[in-house]
Amino acid sequence: MERRSAPHLLASEVVVVGGGYAGLSAALRLHDHAVDVTLVEAADRVGGRVLSETRPDGTILDHGGQWVGPTQTRLLALAARFACPTFPTWEKGSHIEVRHDGARVPYTGAAPAGAPGVAAYARVTGLLDAHARTVDTARPWRTPRFAEWDALSAGDWFHAEIDDADALRRLALAVQGLWCTEPDEISLFHVLFYIAAAGGFEQLMETRGCAQDSRFTGGAAAPARAIADLLGDRVRLGEPARAITCDADGVRVRTRSLEIRARRAVVALPPHAVRDVEFGPPLPRARGGWLEGNPMGRVAKVHAVYATPFWREAGLSGVATLYDEGPVGVVFDNSPEDASCGILVGFVYGRRLDAFTALDASARRSAVLASFTRVVGPRAGSPRLYTEQDWTRDPYARGGYEAYARPGAWSRHGEAGWRTPTGPLHWAGTETASEWNGYIDGAVSSGLRAADEVLRAVRG
Ligand SMILES: Cc1cc2nc3c(=O)[nH]c(=O)nc-3n(C[C@H](O)[C@H](O)[C@H](O)COP(=O)(O)OP(=O)(O)OC[C@H]3O[C@@H](n4cnc5c(N)ncnc54)[C@H](O)[C@@H]3O)c2cc1C
Repeated sequence: MERRSAPHLLASEVVVVGGGYAGLSAALRLHDHAVDVTLVEAADRVGGRVLSETRPDGTILDHGGQWVGPTQTRLLALAARFACPTFPTWEKGSHIEVRHDGARVPYTGAAPAGAPGVAAYARVTGLLDAHARTVDTARPWRTPRFAEWDALSAGDWFHAEIDDADALRRLALAVQGLWCTEPDEISLFHVLFYIAAAGGFEQLMETRGCAQDSRFTGGAAAPARAIADLLGDRVRLGEPARAITCDADGVRVRTRSLEIRARRAVVALPPHAVRDVEFGPPLPRARGGWLEGNPMGRVAKVHAVYATPFWREAGLSGVATLYDEGPVGVVFDNSPEDASCGILVGFVYGRRLDAFTALDASARRSAVLASFTRVVGPRAGSPRLYTEQDWTRDPYARGGYEAYARPGAWSRHGEAGWRTPTGPLHWAGTETASEWNGYIDGAVSSGLRAADEVLRAVRG
């Protein structure tokens, strides 16, 4: 029988729930403004969907979020404050496209010139960009064609625009690569909102000057750990919030072993994790509907570590897009800056992940290494280390990179349910960001926004 001891009572001016980049950024800003803050985190570490592992030989593997781009200024500001250096993502040499019929095509630039479907793909993504420029990212419901676009899935719209199987394959891989889901599962409006929040489709897709520009020398969790060190024992690990009660005096957050009384709370969790908390009184219907309409994407990140980045000698960048039946959709060279070993990273997402998880561990490894072999040759078949991080199995994230809106979720519940504070509860998390929604930078900006809401409420 489980023994339940009385909770340890704490009082704090503000409580932050969730120790990913959103919660940490909120707590840091409040602390900077001399607000007494306590942060509760369910896991035994901070960072959430950013997970940097240091191997015994010193190699760092980023199993979750890792890249940062030059317009992601809030994350870069944190990195600068805590002296966490970055270095450019490796992309020198020829990239590889593996076609659905297995053909292997080297190319440079964004896509092989004149390849099947490229022209139609460019036309459709250009149209996405044009539509995205009309999106109001702060008040999305004010976008002129909001309801019309939100009624459609991206897949409905792609099929209405083009009838070219190769272009549709390219669009499907782009949707997997950005939202870890399939075109028929995601709202067209959400796709446009997300493009707008990043500053354009190219910003999302490309490397130099864009979202995949750089990596953190000490792993992407280094700034998160530095914030937690600064906050010290204000951060309580291993304390999942189970119940949050609001009354005239403020809020009470009940965790595994604590009951924290505070004037305000910042809840910095992905949508499904908010739904797991028991709220008293229950959340407004719009908020509940919004959370329900925003499932997590499905992604696993796989790494293979080799003695050297041997593909570089052969003039290959290690960057690849794969349209074949294998599990991996996109590959990058994830070697350390000093190339002291060679690392390939692959992404398995959407329906590819559904099929992948049905395999046993040895079949999964073989399938990934077969994908890597198609990209850089047979030496890829014998790594000295192979790792898998299936985020759908992470007990707290339950998917990634982020939640995406299903068709209809924005128009039915967005205006009241997206991020409007609920009494003394303020909502953060990358899913609530107007800029770089879905990214680490969006998590940071959401935490700062929620902290500012709290500061206005408690300090005037
Ligand atoms: C495989 C993968 C690759 C990605 N690549 C990139 C990338 O290259 N660049 C980029 O910018 N972004 C990337 N992302 C997205 C990025 O990691 C996320 O947008 C960001 O980390 C989200 O931060 P957050 O604070 O909003 O949420 P989370 O990081 O999910 O933080 C929420 C925290 O709350 C905790 N929690 C959950 N339930 C409770 C509870 N009941 N009580 C208390 N705590 C709780 C969780 O343990 C977690 O620590 C990637 C994500 C994944 C999964």
